[in-house]
Amino acid sequence: MKKVSIIGGGIIGLTSAYYLAKEGYEVVVFDKSDMNDGCSYGNAGMIVPSHIIPLAQPGMIAQGIKWMFNSQSPFYVKPRLNTTLMKWGMQFYKHANLSHVQKAMPALCDLSLLSKELYQDFARESSSFFYEEKGLLMLYKTDKTGEEIHHEGKLAEELGLKVDFLSKEEVSNLEKGTATNVIGGVHYKSDAHVYPQKFMQFIKEELQKLDVKIYSHTTVTNFVLKNNAVAEIVTDKGSFTTDEVVLAAGSWSPEIAGKLNINISILPGKGYSFTLKDQDHKPSIPSILCEGKVAVTPMNRDIRFGGTMEITHTNDTKINQNRVQGIVNSINDFYPELKIEMPEEKDIWYGFRPCTPSGMPIIARDKKLKNLTLVTGHAMMGLSLAPATGKIVSEIISEKPTSVKTEMFQF
Ligand SMILES: Cc1cc2nc3c(=O)[nH]c(=O)nc-3n(C[C@H](O)[C@H](O)[C@H](O)COP(=O)(O)OP(=O)(O)OC[C@H]3O[C@@H](n4cnc5c(N)ncnc54)[C@H](O)[C@@H]3O)c2cc1C
Repeated sequence: MKKVSIIGGGIIGLTSAYYLAKEGYEVVVFDKSDMNDGCSYGNAGMIVPSHIIPLAQPGMIAQGIKWMFNSQSPFYVKPRLNTTLMKWGMQFYKHANLSHVQKAMPALCDLSLLSKELYQDFARESSSFFYEEKGLLMLYKTDKTGEEIHHEGKLAEELGLKVDFLSKEEVSNLEKGTATNVIGGVHYKSDAHVYPQKFMQFIKEELQKLDVKIYSHTTVTNFVLKNNAVAEIVTDKGSFTTDEVVLAAGSWSPEIAGKLNINISILPGKGYSFTLKDQDHKPSIPSILCEGKVAVTPMNRDIRFGGTMEITHTNDTKINQNRVQGIVNSINDFYPELKIEMPEEKDIWYGFRPCTPSGMPIIARDKKLKNLTLVTGHAMMGLSLAPATGKIVSEIISEKPTSVKTEMFQF
């Protein structure tokens, strides 16, 4: 059987490894980190068929510019005189229109629903990662946001998702864990959630059973090409021959693709989270606090809060306390009983969401190198879309028809 080498052991690389190994391929994963704390671990764990509207959408640029001037806002682009950022910005501008959103919505919805079914399959195997189907509650405090959230809810209904539009009282009846200070909410009943660290642990154990070799602390540095294909992967621990290559290196994908003279536009969208352990008093339904763009996810006995999107570079590892303070303020504003304090710096996690300017993930065979498949750019939906992405990768490499159409996931 062919040998497939996967570059990147985040959730996209590992779910790809899983479905490829299930198909009978010999699979090897390389990751430069210890594979315990990257973007796929500290995220909000939401599985979101509700998220059908890509980041590149009408109105986003005007809103983004307003947010740039507020140090606690949820969105920020680190200004730099840099061609990568300028090209990404131009592409984002090109995609932030209705026609793109209309094409993107059904594609994202199909991919998400497939992913949720696959999570349900995993959950039948194991309860270790706390898969739950409680939906997602979009909470809002102003009429203006309420109108936008209702409009998005109606679009989701048109695509067949189950959505409830809730008054203030109905929100309180649903969210019994703690009081909410909102004027209403939209409940997407289609959504689910997991505990990301536990899911990553589960999938690693599954890969072990399937004899997948995982090389952590191993950085891919270059490639040897032969006959229009990658023949060898060069790492800091030596070279490895291969039949197929899957590039799943998240925010680092452009620099690796660059070694193959392939240009992909992805910038890291830095976000933060913190997790409070063993909380008896906490929200019980995963929620987004819309005005602050804060994600709130109960994970078994714990509760995780996450947010902010700083478009930056992968060397920017500094924790911006102002933005974390913005998250804390939103929580206390929406949940007046919680009285959350600013976490210590050591308890604040950050991760780099790999963001394409179109807001669409890339799941595609390369057009020049015949044995290369690229899977990256899942931005704020990588956990949600990972199983479907992995399954499609195995179908692409096996030259089978894909479970969902992939036209919108090209680069
Ligand atoms: C605050 C926050 C909240 C989020 N909440 C959600 C959510 O609720 N739901 C959701 O669906 N998504 C969410 N996300 C997004 C999600 O976490 C990401 O989309 C996802 O983790 C990306 O996975 P990945 O495998 O593509 O990338 P990564 O997890 O970043 O994995 C890429 C891997 O490639 C490795 N690598 C890089 N360069 C090399 C090299 N040269 N050689 C070898 N290995 C290399 C890295 O070490 C890394 O492990 C959130 C993100 C953040 C920051």
